[in-house]
Amino acid sequence: MKRVAIVGGGIAALGCAVALKERGIACTIFEKERGGAGKLRTERAGAFLIEAGPDSFLPEKPWTLELIRTIGLEHELLCSNDEHKGTYIWSRGRLHRLPDGVALMVPTMIGPMLRSRLISWRGKLRMGLDLVVRRRRDESDESLESFVTRRLGRECLDKIAEPLVAGIHTSNPDNMSVRATFPRFVEMERKHRSLIRAMLAAKKRMPPPKPGARPMTYFMSLRSGMQALADGCAAFVGRDAFRSGTPVRRLARAGDGWRLALDDGKATFDHVVCAVPSYDAAGLLGELDGGLAAAMAAIEWSSSANVSLGFRREDVRVELPGFGFIVPRVEDRRINATTWSSIKWSHRAPDDHVLVRAFVGGGHHEELVELGDEDLVRVLREELRSIVGLEAEPVLTRIHRWPRSMPKYTVGHLERIEAIEGRVRAFAGLHLCGCSYRGIGIGDCVHSGFEAAKAIAGA
Ligand SMILES: Cc1cc2nc3c(=O)[nH]c(=O)nc-3n(C[C@H](O)[C@H](O)[C@H](O)COP(=O)(O)OP(=O)(O)OC[C@H]3O[C@@H](n4cnc5c(N)ncnc54)[C@H](O)[C@@H]3O)c2cc1C
Repeated sequence: MKRVAIVGGGIAALGCAVALKERGIACTIFEKERGGAGKLRTERAGAFLIEAGPDSFLPEKPWTLELIRTIGLEHELLCSNDEHKGTYIWSRGRLHRLPDGVALMVPTMIGPMLRSRLISWRGKLRMGLDLVVRRRRDESDESLESFVTRRLGRECLDKIAEPLVAGIHTSNPDNMSVRATFPRFVEMERKHRSLIRAMLAAKKRMPPPKPGARPMTYFMSLRSGMQALADGCAAFVGRDAFRSGTPVRRLARAGDGWRLALDDGKATFDHVVCAVPSYDAAGLLGELDGGLAAAMAAIEWSSSANVSLGFRREDVRVELPGFGFIVPRVEDRRINATTWSSIKWSHRAPDDHVLVRAFVGGGHHEELVELGDEDLVRVLREELRSIVGLEAEPVLTRIHRWPRSMPKYTVGHLERIEAIEGRVRAFAGLHLCGCSYRGIGIGDCVHSGFEAAKAIAGA
């Protein structure tokens, strides 16, 4: 029987543990926080349901749905309320609706784009030039800024791509690797030359929804909140597998296996899955391979904070448009984005209340993350007042800070990850997974856990 340890208890670790259990392989999960489930954290306050971390996942990445089905949580699936759908972008003193048909940053419908006042006529013409601009021949990595300005122009970068696309990664477009974050765009250019043509072709190829299939929206969540996914995995794997409140201090070779240094002793395993952020992994592996640890420590991270505010519906005397708004960096405001949580999702607030979640930091004005609670709430309320005129007094306030929580995939990231993985392959029984390496979204993290389980089963 293989003895397997997983270090870290986030969703990548849990995906790995579930996939191991399905293959009949038991594991022990060491999580440093007591009762920790990584970033999937949901709080309840009366009938308010507050997401501290992620509020959704993308079903187009199939692994999260696969995990949900495996652990029997399909009945919890929750679509967004798409009758209210719409993203608003703050630009030159007002909110503009992202024109219909813009897929990530690529326009696919002419009418709404022409009618929109978000982008100037010159900017629209420049976006249209994507149809004729030549493809890049150089195969090397490129920043998102260089890619977007080359294909769609500077205005599209500043007003759409930066807040929408770089915003997902809480990164700066000037050093964010397009290959590591949106390989799909690179592939589109390679195959179709024009992103607009590629998006239109992809739309045509999209199969019609299967009759009787469960309806899905672009973003999906769980009725009881995203932590239900982590809790469901833990229940599937079995609580006995968990040693929470147990930090692993170091990993060392022990014959053909691995020795974990713990505060209360040591434990030995045949395989160890390192499912912690790269900076923690660097600490664990430093004595084993200094070069590997240095490469891991070189991955940069950004910090963010979000504040959830609950209001009595009758006190909200203004329109809260769409699902929320995003703010381009060029606007130099203190707020990054806001989601009207209880408009986007059902079951997030009592019927006569509204829940709002506002964000700061994430590669932009990160110093705000360090503000004291009162100042942080004051800043965000000032911003909401100035942007949508929201003056109401909140009846609920919850603050969640996320220091060093999002890895930045900077230009050259994939080459650096290949080098890291090459060094890890030299150590039989050592596996990496999690958001530090090949995708930050929940789907990619789950996938990385599945891959680690597959490697262990096949070893
Ligand atoms: C505010 C926020 C919002 C987000 N929103 C979304 C979203 O809506 N959709 C989406 O798809 N993604 C979202 N993401 C990204 C996504 O949530 C994360 O990338 C993902 O959850 C990371 O999972 P993980 O398993 O790699 O790491 P983590 O969840 O960070 O888990 C790692 C675990 O390792 C533990 N650990 C560290 N060191 C040790 C040690 N020495 N010993 C034992 N344990 C250790 C930590 O305590 C932690 O629990 C969001 C992220 C944040 C911060």
